[in-house]
Amino acid sequence: MAVEINRNDALIIDNQPYPIVGYGTYPATGNECAKAVEAAIKAGYKIIDTATFYRNIEPIGDVVKRHGRQNFYIISKVWIDSLTPDKVREDFAKTLEQLQTDYLDAYLIHWPISKVPIDQTLKAMDELRLAGKIRHIGVSNFTINHLRKALECKVPITWNQVEMHPHFYDPELLGFCRQKSIVVQAWGPLARGRLSEDKLLKSLGEKHGKTPAQVAIRWIIQHGCVPLPGSKSPEHLRQNFDVMDFKLSDKEMKMIDDIAKGGERERYSWLDEFDYTYEECWPFKG
Ligand code: NAD
Repeated sequence: MAVEINRNDALIIDNQPYPIVGYGTYPATGNECAKAVEAAIKAGYKIIDTATFYRNIEPIGDVVKRHGRQNFYIISKVWIDSLTPDKVREDFAKTLEQLQTDYLDAYLIHWPISKVPIDQTLKAMDELRLAGKIRHIGVSNFTINHLRKALECKVPITWNQVEMHPHFYDPELLGFCRQKSIVVQAWGPLARGRLSEDKLLKSLGEKHGKTPAQVAIRWIIQHGCVPLPGSKSPEHLRQNFDVMDFKLSDKEMKMIDDIAKGGERERYSWLDEFDYTYEECWPFKG
């Protein structure tokens, strides 16, 4: 298995340990992004999440190059307008150029869409993997149905990056991913900053001497997932990384699970084609 999280909550990628908390770079761009990534690297982050859609790959590339490309695990995502094989290759080449590198650690499909059959996109990505240019292939915002269809293509899928925080999670999806050895990355782990005033997280935080954000990140880690909190504030990004010196009890985990299960996910009006209840994704013979 390429990626696993061991009993001590340590993340092991291709037999090498990585700090489990990754850094989410959206929506920072330009110099502001470069400064934030610089602060994240100083704080100890090794995993950096970006995407073509974020328009911040160039500043990330500049900073990472200064600190030694090989020291980081960089995730990028191909946008929904570039999922045909030619467009995937084009997006990938541009991503490498902007990052000033010759490989990506993880390349993900940002959102599933039904316009392009998934096997076409995944096969194009797999050719790049087989050529040694992508270490791990992943998807993002995929439901169980999407994953089932994707797995029919027999291309190894290492990651699924999905929304997950104490105000929303999908335990069935997590179980399915575990069963298929797909590791979940949690986007929006702080519910976009809304968690700071959550009463339960505040009280658990007080008990452990931690902030609500740190409790949220810890909850994600104890679910065997990789949190990707975003922040431009050096103080917040240091805080979000400092979560390995306490543990939530089973009872505390369950209390958070209960509110998260009943929560609501974000909806994106600009992705009106995509429907979370859509059962017949990619209605082609796979
Ligand atoms: P998030 O939940 O990480 O919240 C970020 C917000 O929380 C920011 O406004 C920040 O100021 C605030 N914050 C950060 N640390 C804090 C702390 N310690 N205390 C209080 N407030 C704090 O949401 P996000 O940034 O949208 O998601 C994280 C990352 O996930 C993004 O940067 C991006 O890389 C990724 N992402 C992926 C997708 C996808 O479709 N795959 C979608 C959204 C985001």
